[in-house]
Amino acid sequence: MSDTLFGRIIRREIPATIVYEDEDILAFKDIAPQAPVHVLFIPKHEAIPTLDDATPAQAGLLGRLMLAAAAYARSEGFAEDGYRVVMNCREHAGQTVFHVHLHLLAGAPLGHFGTP
Ligand code: 5GP
Repeated sequence: MSDTLFGRIIRREIPATIVYEDEDILAFKDIAPQAPVHVLFIPKHEAIPTLDDATPAQAGLLGRLMLAAAAYARSEGFAEDGYRVVMNCREHAGQTVFHVHLHLLAGAPLGHFGTP
């Protein structure tokens, strides 16, 4: 497993507020939330540093991250109003933890994005 901050959270070496877990995925609250709800969904067993490192064999796992985020948003009542999922890849996106992760942002209208 990856020797990153998130690897340490998976191994319970550092604390996190875990909101969802299954065989393959762990989800926990972001320590510096950018929206009222900001949860990170990460693979537990596969060390994928960035989206660019993912292989076709990992497509199912990446899809399950998306579906886990959608299911969590639905269960918390955010599906109707909507939410955002984001995966930052490397420097220009501001990626800081090199263990692939999906951000779920919800709970308020979110500003539009895409410009530098
Ligand atoms: P990135 O910028 O790599 O896409 O996202 C990394 C995220 O991890 C950031 O939103 C950051 O706030 C979050 N983060 C960094 N350190 C910790 C930590 O120790 N615990 C938790 N729960 N989140 C963290």
